[in-house]
Amino acid sequence: KKIVRWEETSDYPNGRLTGEVSVSPTFDKTGNCIRLVGAVHDITERKKTEEERLRLSSILEATSDFVGIAAPDQRITFLNQAGRKALGYGEMEDLSQTKVSDYSPDWATEIILKEGIPAALNNGKWIGETAFLTMAGVEIPISQVILSHKNSKGELQYLSTISRDITVQKESEHKLEQQNRELQKTNSELDRFVYSTSHDLRAPLKSMLGLIRITKESTEPGNSMQHERLEMLNKSVIKLDDFIEDILHYSRNTRLEVAKDEINFEEVIQEIRSSHKFMEGTRGLKLQVEAHQKEKFISDKRRVNVILNNLISNAIKYGDESKEKSFVKIFIRCSKENAVITIEDNGIGIADKDKEKIFEMFYRATKLSTGSGLGMYIVKETLEKLGGKINMESELNKGTKFTVEIPNQLLL
Ligand code: ADP
Repeated sequence: KKIVRWEETSDYPNGRLTGEVSVSPTFDKTGNCIRLVGAVHDITERKKTEEERLRLSSILEATSDFVGIAAPDQRITFLNQAGRKALGYGEMEDLSQTKVSDYSPDWATEIILKEGIPAALNNGKWIGETAFLTMAGVEIPISQVILSHKNSKGELQYLSTISRDITVQKESEHKLEQQNRELQKTNSELDRFVYSTSHDLRAPLKSMLGLIRITKESTEPGNSMQHERLEMLNKSVIKLDDFIEDILHYSRNTRLEVAKDEINFEEVIQEIRSSHKFMEGTRGLKLQVEAHQKEKFISDKRRVNVILNNLISNAIKYGDESKEKSFVKIFIRCSKENAVITIEDNGIGIADKDKEKIFEMFYRATKLSTGSGLGMYIVKETLEKLGGKINMESELNKGTKFTVEIPNQLLL
């Protein structure tokens, strides 16, 4: 008996159908066909599933990710070409007797078995970083996703895993970490160097100032030329010392942790005031201070001092000699949240083109500056450490107003 089969696809009003046609002939004694019995089987669904499977498997084979499927007992039932190639298995090699643990170094197997699979069983999915072990014994770092597939009764059907080679990423991470460590080391060495050099430079300067003073005292009062020269020398040494002090402040700010001190602003201002005493009174300068502080204020006293000192000494330094009366007004208001401090002067002001730049390192906006150009940079950097802000309003020849906001660490 002979049966002939073929598949036939035709379009019908309600869609495309595929049928499997089978026909079997019946013959009489002489061999003539006397009857044909035929049947058509609707295989549309089967066909669709098959096509779907082909489409999926072409994607699985095209991707550079490693895709694998394991049975509940962890035997491998599928590994795509990318996975086979990476691990060193042949295209058709039978992997059905291999297990997950054959593909990973011990440490990774442990993660997969103890962490990955249990998590995938619980949550349906696990993502982590593990590694493959190739047949040649090479470890490939991978980022791995494990998915669990259960039937409607909640029984595990199979586990699938998608992995990606992250060798390049790992290498650059490693390089970056190493560079970071080196950078940190260089930075802290540089900081230490700057700090100790500046520190050591100050001692001889102090003794120079002392010697200048003694020489001045023993010079004949009539020798005005010598007095003038000594005064110039004195100024230069003070300038050098100020410069070194700025560098020390900068270095301290980068090196030291932020302290939590209780700050009494009246006291702070009083200290700054007395250190500028010799400047007050020149050009009829008036220093007005108003401090409203009812709340306890906590911040880093040393840093707050550096900020205010720089701003106040600038306000005095850049006073306008052409004006009859110079003033510097300091206003402080303290709350639970922050301290808002304004320092206002009627000095020479700052031109619009310089406004952005005065916070840059070594920038001086006026020829009148005898300073290092570090002060405002230090103010900005120090405020950043304290989590504060600074705002500036200035008009050339009219004056300048800085508003500083420093957070109160009381509630933290
Ligand atoms: P410097 O050592 O030159 O004082 P700073 O960094 O303290 O350096 O200030 C940078 C520049 O900003 C100064 O050179 C000056 O031109 C300008 N400046 C700062 N404060 C004031 C102010 N209150 N009034 C006018 N100009 C100011």
